[in-house]
Amino acid sequence: MLKDLYLDYASSTPIFPEVLKTYTDLLSNHYANSSALHDAGLKVSKMLEESRLACANLLNVKASTLTFTSGATQSNNIFIKGIAYHYQNRGKHIITSVIEHASVLECFKDLEKYDGFECTYLAVDYQGRINPDDLLKALREDTILVSIMTVNNETGGHLDTQNYAQLVHQHSKAFFHTDAVQALAKVEFDLSHYDAASFSAHKINGLKGSGLLYIREGISLRHLLSGGHYENGQVPGTVNALSHIVFAKTLRLALNDYRLKHQQVQKVHDYLRMSLNQLDNIVINSPQTHCSAYILNFSILDLPSQVMLNFLSKHHIYASAAATCSDKSFKASHVLSAMGKSDIELKTVIRISLSNMNTLEDIDRLIQTLKEGIHKYARTH
Ligand code: PMP
Repeated sequence: MLKDLYLDYASSTPIFPEVLKTYTDLLSNHYANSSALHDAGLKVSKMLEESRLACANLLNVKASTLTFTSGATQSNNIFIKGIAYHYQNRGKHIITSVIEHASVLECFKDLEKYDGFECTYLAVDYQGRINPDDLLKALREDTILVSIMTVNNETGGHLDTQNYAQLVHQHSKAFFHTDAVQALAKVEFDLSHYDAASFSAHKINGLKGSGLLYIREGISLRHLLSGGHYENGQVPGTVNALSHIVFAKTLRLALNDYRLKHQQVQKVHDYLRMSLNQLDNIVINSPQTHCSAYILNFSILDLPSQVMLNFLSKHHIYASAAATCSDKSFKASHVLSAMGKSDIELKTVIRISLSNMNTLEDIDRLIQTLKEGIHKYARTH
């Protein structure tokens, strides 16, 4: 029986055993509502606040700036729409990039369609980079928000959002938000540059259904949902407290030995790149430089993504074509098409996403299986 080889860590990750243990212990004992005023409820709310403080210390910000959410999709919605509605009297122009995750792009599309906002979608070059001059040119008197991701989830392209944030603050009154889901515990970044940032626990070996939104002090948002003052009034409804309580442990473990883990992953990433470069008809779509070690995106021009992904899956190797969000249907990647990739490159894309659990032997097995798949199917398609 072949062992499973999971290469889809940008999509989701296994839960740290320590986190799982703490969570299951909590589940059996702490079922009280964190906003109940009896002792059982107060115990849960105390642990929740301790987790917030621990996350804040790890991220080097104040606890009051962190809101627990159901994940990055919710964080992105709460901030982008909340800012737009609250500050629309100052202006109705907002800026993002064409390569954002759907949870950012669709907020912009909705604001444009239903609320009369004017949106600028910054273009990217062949390496997925944004020219800072384009950002400067896009800024206007009435720009109230710029949202640009730090690491792209499809290509691993690492954008210099700290610099973009500085430019935005120097040249406009707009707030700067970054979707930092694929950056957390993977690339260096300093929250003091940003007005807001979104994170997700399940991308860093935590639980699904738990996320964080950092909002710099003094910024107000209009809430999107009504029904109570939980989580700074932004996330009404009974708080998913136990999942958020273990966010702190997740973050601590994810950041532990961050540099060492990064070095290990970089070695595996470089070996994968080198091995792919030795195969025929392969195009690497991830940028050459400024690329997260954790993601490598390429096209095998000989055969459609789904054929290769099914073949890999039959051999217990799990990868993906692009983002695994929304639904399971195959759509050409908006990120790669914005980078100017050809039709054939778009149809044959594979995304490998790594963790420090992966080894060079895993890459040898992947490459061998890719070669077998190419040999078996390439000519028939
Ligand atoms: N942004 C990025 C860059 C992502 O990769 C993802 C997850 N695919 C999200 C946002 C959404 O995160 P969540 O699953 O926590 O809603």
